[in-house]
Amino acid sequence: MDTINSDILIVGAGLAGFTAAVRAAEQGAKVLLIDKSSGELGDGNVLMASGSLRAGGKSPKTDAKELYDFVMSEGVGSLDLVDSWSQTAGPAIDWLEKIGVALEETAPGRIWLKQESEISYGPVYKKDVGPRAIASLKRRFLELGGSYLNGIAGVRLMVENNRVAGLIGKRGGEEIELRAQSTILTTGGFAANKELVKKYIGPNADRCKLRGSKQDTGDGLRMAMEIGAKAVNLKYFYGHLIARKALTDDRFWPYPRLDSFVDEGVLVDGDGKRFVDEGRGDVAVANELSRAEDPTGATLIFDGASWEASKSSPSSTSLAIPAPNPWMIDNGAEIFSDDSVEGLAKKLGVNAANLDKTIAAYSQAVSSDKAKSLPVTRTGKPKVLRAPFYGLRVVSGITFTMGGIAINGQGQALDQSDKPIANLYAAGDAIGGLMGGHRGGYTGGLMQAIVTGILAGDNASRR
Ligand SMILES: Cc1cc2nc3c(=O)[nH]c(=O)nc-3n(C[C@H](O)[C@H](O)[C@H](O)COP(=O)(O)OP(=O)(O)OC[C@H]3O[C@@H](n4cnc5c(N)ncnc54)[C@H](O)[C@@H]3O)c2cc1C
Repeated sequence: MDTINSDILIVGAGLAGFTAAVRAAEQGAKVLLIDKSSGELGDGNVLMASGSLRAGGKSPKTDAKELYDFVMSEGVGSLDLVDSWSQTAGPAIDWLEKIGVALEETAPGRIWLKQESEISYGPVYKKDVGPRAIASLKRRFLELGGSYLNGIAGVRLMVENNRVAGLIGKRGGEEIELRAQSTILTTGGFAANKELVKKYIGPNADRCKLRGSKQDTGDGLRMAMEIGAKAVNLKYFYGHLIARKALTDDRFWPYPRLDSFVDEGVLVDGDGKRFVDEGRGDVAVANELSRAEDPTGATLIFDGASWEASKSSPSSTSLAIPAPNPWMIDNGAEIFSDDSVEGLAKKLGVNAANLDKTIAAYSQAVSSDKAKSLPVTRTGKPKVLRAPFYGLRVVSGITFTMGGIAINGQGQALDQSDKPIANLYAAGDAIGGLMGGHRGGYTGGLMQAIVTGILAGDNASRR
């Protein structure tokens, strides 16, 4: 078996992997970054990303205490990790700019990967914002003497004298030994692994739509758990409701986004009944639907005013992503409208008496300011629904999983007793402890990847 030796081995060349790689190489370490895909820039989610650099919906440069409080308010964050993440988010932006990753600030605190981009709308919407950022990181990594090898999959960790000594990988069917003083797992989440999605998210969640990279099969999580690592928050994912048509037609994923219909409308099951507080937000609602008996059986109901307004939502106009109106109709989504709720129910094949009762009770409660007291509570900013009524069949789109390997504030992977596993680190969507909770608890995938990549890269190479 061939052997390659390095100081730091990084497994997975997404944004977290490339960030950790540059940071470790900046410290003078001999770094090897591998990816199982054949991509020159890996094959991670960043290659599809819009490039919004948000930390818990706020500027990454927000006061660390405010960021910390926001994340911890969801109740599932790991104290030490959240503390480091909050303090490192602001400096991370300055560092990215310093090493040549192009950013732009479109309004005070609204920071993006530079948005100037080639956009293609079919068959799957893509822009080259992420690839350009990764290309800049790769350029810097190679300048610093780092090595990038694609076509090598990490398969199992090697443990010697209670310390991780690297891993066994596979290259073209042959095993290869990759020895290192420290190993950093940056293999992304497990959204593309239907078995793990069923096991950890919901028994029928494998029927949801994958809204990210097919490479994210939870390899790092599996490898770490095999040697006793602790995993946290595995039931949560970042994602959105998307048109159910996305299950058979690529034009409906990753966009259009339907957030405004969730905010302003209701989600009903096949019986025409509400089952979730839509006011918890699109991410939390997508999570809830994924745990339903039939994650493909729900319909978003909204009204004509919301449909009209969705022609020009700020995200579609500023990011040039397709707007729901007219994309849904132009491309034949399962969208229906009628002047009466009963008529709409018939078109949707939903129990008409139930849907009528649901919408009447909902609008009545909203107009008398009692939406929170509905049998299924409604928070947020609900509005009375008025004719014409619209119904769109939806499914949860899983962008990436939020849970994963438990790490501390230095990026070290933890065992079941919360003790660091010697020489093992993790970063990016492979980790857990930052995201998840009742309202979705999204802290930003890119900022998670960058910040934890920095923590792991710096600390692994300082040892
Ligand atoms: C459509 C879309 C839009 C998004 N927009 C935004 C946005 O605007 N803002 C934001 O904050 N986030 C956004 N995200 C999320 C963000 O892109 C991700 O959270 C982030 O890029 C994750 O980076 P990562 O490096 O941890 O993992 P990934 O990007 O998943 O990369 C993992 C890498 O590991 C490799 N790999 C996997 N297994 C192995 C193995 N066994 N051996 C070797 N290599 C392996 C894969 O090939 C891949 O290259 C978006 C995601 C999508 C899909």
